Amino acid sequence: MNFFENALDFLFPKICIICGKIDKNSICENCKKRIKKYEKFILITKDKENSEIYYDYFLFGYSYKGLMRKILLKYKFQGQAYICNFFAKMLLNCKKTYDFFSFYDIMIPVPMEKQKKLARGYNQAELIVDIIAKNAQISNGKNVICKIKNTKTQSLLNYRERQDNVKNAFFVSQIENVKNKRIILFDDIYTTGATVNEISRILKENGAEKILVLVIAKD
Ligand SMILES: [Zn+2]
Repeated sequence: MNFFENALDFLFPKICIICGKIDKNSICENCKKRIKKYEKFILITKDKENSEIYYDYFLFGYSYKGLMRKILLKYKFQGQAYICNFFAKMLLNCKKTYDFFSFYDIMIPVPMEKQKKLARGYNQAELIVDIIAKNAQISNGKNVICKIKNTKTQSLLNYRERQDNVKNAFFVSQIENVKNKRIILFDDIYTTGATVNEISRILKENGAEKILVLVIAKD
């Protein structure tokens, strides 16, 4: 830490985003322990009979409620991009996810439309993948998929409407990074799964061998 950073800390002391206590990290040790209690990391294998689901596995770390919901909302909607470090560390420190990072070839964050990303300043899923790809044995697939269609905000729609809304909204721009690859498709929150399922559909269409959908929290 240099003088400039120290001076900044003095002017703007870093505080825990949950309890507000002054702490050098964005989330203090005490709050980390509180969050840890809700950790699940449950792996669901796709029902082989279900031909409408295109990914093979689904793994989520938390339920989208309580503290985790609070942190994700801050991360996603309140410009607090640095929280990506907290989530990346959480996924790197979890044995279940770390094993997948070793066995899979590439990690693809769910892309955002250009305009939306410009407005928010970042793609929250992409920031986490950037850190994981640097610290685990998996390639960064942030440019593999593009979003081409402007979709309506998913949260206002039911499942069928969501399905129609995302239909043909994405395309694969790097086929060589999809064909015969084991892919982790990553997003922050899973609600109905319509988006990750549509992306999985085009990944399989382009020859993906296996797809694991990984999210931080499931609604
Ligand atoms: Zn705290």
